[in-house]
Amino acid sequence: MSSALTGQTAVITGAVRGIGRAIALRLAKSEANLIINYYQNEAAALDLSRKIADLGGHCVLVRGDVSHPDDAQKVIQSSLENFNRLDILVNNAGINRDNLLLRMKEDEFSQVIAVNLLGTFHCTKYASKIMMKGRYGRIVNISSVVGIAGNAGQANYAASKAGIIGFTKSVAKELGTRNITVNAIAPGYIKTDMTNQLSDDQKGKILSRIPLGRFGLPEEVANMVNFLVSDEANYITGQVFRIDGGMEI
Ligand code: NAP
Repeated sequence: MSSALTGQTAVITGAVRGIGRAIALRLAKSEANLIINYYQNEAAALDLSRKIADLGGHCVLVRGDVSHPDDAQKVIQSSLENFNRLDILVNNAGINRDNLLLRMKEDEFSQVIAVNLLGTFHCTKYASKIMMKGRYGRIVNISSVVGIAGNAGQANYAASKAGIIGFTKSVAKELGTRNITVNAIAPGYIKTDMTNQLSDDQKGKILSRIPLGRFGLPEEVANMVNFLVSDEANYITGQVFRIDGGMEI
């Protein structure tokens, strides 16, 4: 096991499936103590917690809907209650409700903004209060290439992910003097439950646009998160990193 994050505490939102789960396992391998937030999937949460214990890691599961300020505060606060510190926040929780603009209902738009963008705002706000006192923090927000390039049928999702990019850059400017870095990752198409919803036809069209000729793996996003929260990335802030197999070159 690498010991790069030994003794540090990381909060990861939406962390029991897909990309969030891979991030949790990667940071556990780096020996960070983890607060693992999830929303509905308790079975997946318990499975992940066992896996982390098998790796010799420490984690606490915290159920909560990040779009609600009280839940987000509970999630962040649990890092102090359980580990007495907070060093790292990964805003990963996200949903999609795809539809063409003319068919999109207001709640499809507002739900996606609430979880993806407002959830990132709530968690970052509460976490930064703690990090400012400690004069240290590493925040990574999971955006999407869709937030950079747009995507037909995903106006709500693209708006939330573009919002995360503007939020990341603004907060990086606000918090830099306190030694808190804030970066975003923009994944392309990564193999998770979210992309499994696509039809074979849609998958084929997307694959044809990816120079590396395959979808990405959650672990490939997790490796970038691990780098950005490590000492090796101490002078990097306010940036957006695409992990998309070259799709948006
Ligand atoms: P996923 O497999 O659908 O997992 C989403 C996670 O978010 C789940 O753990 C879910 O918890 C959690 N979640 C949903 N609503 C929540 C809420 N209100 N409060 C707290 N947690 C909530 O998705 P994924 O593909 O791993 O995506 C992870 C992140 O990467 C998202 O932000 C997504 O937009 C972004 N992303 C994904 C891709 C991709 O190709 N997969 C590409 C670009 C960006 P439960 O399991 O408890 O429901």
